[in-house]
Amino acid sequence: MSDPVTVLKNVGDKRKKLYEKLGVRTVEDLLRFYPRSYIDYTNPKLAAECIPGESAVIEAKVLKKLTPAPIRRNMVLYKLLLTDGFSHIMLTIFNNEYAYYDIKVGETYLFHGKFSTMGGSYQMTFSSFIRAEDGAVMRPIYNLTEGLSNGMVVNNVKEALEHWGEFLEDILPLEVASRHLLMPFREAVQAIHFPRGKEDYDKARYRLAFEELFLLSLSLLLLKGRDKGRTEVQIKAPDMHPFYASLPFDLTGAQKRAIGEILADMAGEAPMNRLLQGDVGSGKTMVAAAGCYAAFQGGFQSAIMAPTEILAAQHETTLKKVLEPLGVKVCLLTGSLSKKQKDTLRAEIAAGSYDVVVGTHALVQKDTVFYRLGFVVTDEQHRFGVRQRGELTQKGDHPHHLVMSATPIPRTLALIVYGDLDISVLDELPKGRQKVETYAVHSDKRKRALGFIKKELASGHQGYIVCPLIEDSESELMAAVRYEQIIQTTYFPEYKVALLHGRLKSDEKEQIMDAFKMGKIHLLVSTTVVEVGVDVPNATIMMIENAERFGLSQLHQLRGRVGRGSARSYCILVSDNEGEENRRRLQVMKETTDGFVIAKEDLKLRGAGDFFGDRQHGLPQLGIADLLEDSALFRTAQREAKKLLQQDPSLQLPEQMQLRLYMDKIFVNNDSGLN
Ligand code: ADP
Ligand code: MG
Repeated sequence: MSDPVTVLKNVGDKRKKLYEKLGVRTVEDLLRFYPRSYIDYTNPKLAAECIPGESAVIEAKVLKKLTPAPIRRNMVLYKLLLTDGFSHIMLTIFNNEYAYYDIKVGETYLFHGKFSTMGGSYQMTFSSFIRAEDGAVMRPIYNLTEGLSNGMVVNNVKEALEHWGEFLEDILPLEVASRHLLMPFREAVQAIHFPRGKEDYDKARYRLAFEELFLLSLSLLLLKGRDKGRTEVQIKAPDMHPFYASLPFDLTGAQKRAIGEILADMAGEAPMNRLLQGDVGSGKTMVAAAGCYAAFQGGFQSAIMAPTEILAAQHETTLKKVLEPLGVKVCLLTGSLSKKQKDTLRAEIAAGSYDVVVGTHALVQKDTVFYRLGFVVTDEQHRFGVRQRGELTQKGDHPHHLVMSATPIPRTLALIVYGDLDISVLDELPKGRQKVETYAVHSDKRKRALGFIKKELASGHQGYIVCPLIEDSESELMAAVRYEQIIQTTYFPEYKVALLHGRLKSDEKEQIMDAFKMGKIHLLVSTTVVEVGVDVPNATIMMIENAERFGLSQLHQLRGRVGRGSARSYCILVSDNEGEENRRRLQVMKETTDGFVIAKEDLKLRGAGDFFGDRQHGLPQLGIADLLEDSALFRTAQREAKKLLQQDPSLQLPEQMQLRLYMDKIFVNNDSGLN
């Protein structure tokens, strides 16, 4: 099974490279390279039932072949007149001499192609056919790449199934398979490539999806159940009253609940591993601050890691305000400090002079040593690799770990992306927040939008204009610089406009952000560096240029920079893109500000596979199961996985050997991360 694909007929170096592009290296990979879709010949339609513009399969008899018409060099048009018993259909074959001569007048075939109508008569553009007496079948369609045709893949898969199929072994426990009437694995793989009909396909898909979800559930359960060690950081009943009393507002119910969960974890013997999920503006920072205060009460240091210097600086300011009056010492450690400053600060941190250390990834560098690290917070974790977040906890002896994320995703998905983390959710925004009013406009309305921004500035508020850089190249940067100049001189001469982008030095960035926070800059033209976490409640309007370049979740994050105070806020999405997907995205943005709804839509638009694509979570990959579509199946599989582990907690029974070997592989890959 681990033979390279070159053992197959007609697979040489060239085709091997093409397969590689699709992630297929071995025969096993090829067998698990499931079709993207099928041509379903099992259920042919009458021409009168077909939808113009869509692909269809019809069963039709050939009445007549018209004379081939060469339309230009190397291009011949073949036309055939067909009947489905009720109507005539004109079939057009482009350049496929073989098909044209293979099809016989008077015989009946199943034709697949794009259906259309022209002047009341039915037309079909040929793509494939089979003989009617070959019976009902579904033909697989594979994801392809330039140079690799569907027919080539079909032939290679056929050969692989024929000669290697017998090595496809069942890994699922027999008991589980029989309880759910699952097809044997080998049969399922055969049927997923070449289903004999819809029912056959359904059974195969069910079998394969079940297995994927079962393996995923099992590995999650094993991860969760793994010995996390004991922590010395046990903070029993810290006195939180001073903290609550020092806050300028009441915490939301959700914040209180999350803090309660964190404090309960901190009192335990096992180190906390918790994900705090909350929509933009839900007040995650205060929850982290509560944890820091509890750690302080227990005599421990806390570390908070943010993905950017801007964010780190902002956290430092916030925490200082809340915690320093309570005697908690807060400092900021980032890469932009001078070597000498860093050295001094690091010495003080190591000596325990600071209770809370806020910083960027400078925190995880080797020469940062803590005195008594008890609580670690990783903010906006999706910006960090799994490894980086693990590294910070290595700086202490099993410290408690809180991971914060503003990408709200459905719980089942969160469980997977974040492996073995427990989850707290902030599903409530602080009181007085208003929905950000959102508009989508074409660029010809830009002037009006700028006028609208001006009104907001005139009433003392501030605003953002976001312009995307696709590649962050020099020329694009120049475009942003020019854009900012025009905005400043042509439209807002009486206000202070500034440009913020990722190529600025960090102290320049910080200066700009500080000035913006203090209201000295009125309008901030920015690339996506404002995307995460920036909190300036006086900013009430945001205009996003080329909104089509952003994903839904990213738009939501950006928009979250406004509507953070009590004043009414606005978001204007500028886009000239008329594509279906873009329209749908902008529509969702107009309709809702609920991050969970948006995340769900985003998943639907992009597909869960894509969503996980950029994350190296190391867990079993899903090739056919869909976490959104198959959530019921997922629950069933989870139940079975639990049951199995109850009987055989570490998979020691001889009949589970295959399963154990499989899991061992996963855990080796996961060693650094998920703790
Ligand atoms: P996020 O969850 O996006 O990180 P922040 O922690 O930055 O949100 O909080 C957003 C804003 O809401 C901040 O200005 C913060 O001071 C404020 N805030 C947090 N909790 C509350 C609350 N319970 N009531 C009112 N305002 C709050
Ligand atoms: Mg935040």
